[in-house]
Amino acid sequence: SVSGISRDVLLSLYPVTGTKIYMNLGQPDVIQKYLDLPFDGIGLMRIEFIVSEWIKYHPLYLIKIGKPEEFVNKLAEGISMVASAIYPRPVVVRFSDFKSNEYKSLQGGSEFEPDERNPMIGWRGVSRYISKQYEPAFRLEVKAILKVREEMGLSNVWVMFPFVRTTWELNRAIRIMEEEGLRRSSDFKVWIMAEVPSVIVLADEFSKIVDGFSIGSNDLAQLTLGVDRDSDLLARMGYYDERDPAVLESIRRLIHTAHKYGKTVSICGQAPSVYQEVVEFLVKEGIDSISVNPDAVVSTRRMVASVEQKMLLQGLRKKLEE
Ligand code: PEP
Ligand code: MG
Repeated sequence: SVSGISRDVLLSLYPVTGTKIYMNLGQPDVIQKYLDLPFDGIGLMRIEFIVSEWIKYHPLYLIKIGKPEEFVNKLAEGISMVASAIYPRPVVVRFSDFKSNEYKSLQGGSEFEPDERNPMIGWRGVSRYISKQYEPAFRLEVKAILKVREEMGLSNVWVMFPFVRTTWELNRAIRIMEEEGLRRSSDFKVWIMAEVPSVIVLADEFSKIVDGFSIGSNDLAQLTLGVDRDSDLLARMGYYDERDPAVLESIRRLIHTAHKYGKTVSICGQAPSVYQEVVEFLVKEGIDSISVNPDAVVSTRRMVASVEQKMLLQGLRKKLEE
């Protein structure tokens, strides 16, 4: 409590919104610091921090030396720290999305990782989970989720697949997940990141497979515009811009297609944390939730509330004129 005022009272002072406001998180223990912020869940929990800072070892190395449970237990500990702190609000845990150069720098990692010329568009995301080499490590990630949901009873934990490129690879990864005993249900949602343009192009097909999408506007901008997101040169020239009309049109199409199938759309890239006009655009297009950095939660909630109010008034005025 804040000087005798309960957290519930404090949180009730923020505007209510129809669009959910989620928060992005990477470091589990900092959740305590953010409990006074008005977020409806964690829309992107990155696990790379837990792996590189807590576990420190490459998962395949831990398997090789006979200590796979070290990976499972620490990952479960990190996820449960967040899920228990905000229960029953959802925590969307994203399976690992290191690139091969990042995996290589984990302890014991060099023998398992290839040298790739373009790791950013290489062996990452789902292509790892379904590969012979990494599949055993993906199963450890799934086991950690199972442990949190079933042993610890934190049924507010959902999962998200990053860097999905094709429906066939996604179906294979989901099958592996199900083989481990993790199955979709009314309280267990499976989301994918929409960050490779193929997911937008074939949104109808992907909508039939998953419960929801979360737009990775960082990678979506990079891949839609053909611009290396790490290139300072192109950024200085103004090419790397998530507000580019091609990126916004992709987002608009995804929202409308997913909704046709009753599936939800969120966004967890940096764009709405940085640009208020993107927040306005997303709300007008009918996005279901927006996940932003902790320091943007309050301003995003206020912005969403004011856009929703404006839309509501416009709608009512139209009705009165009819
Ligand atoms: C994104 O691409 O927008 C995203 C949220 O994923 P990451 O930045 O981790 O690639
Ligand atoms: Mg991404």
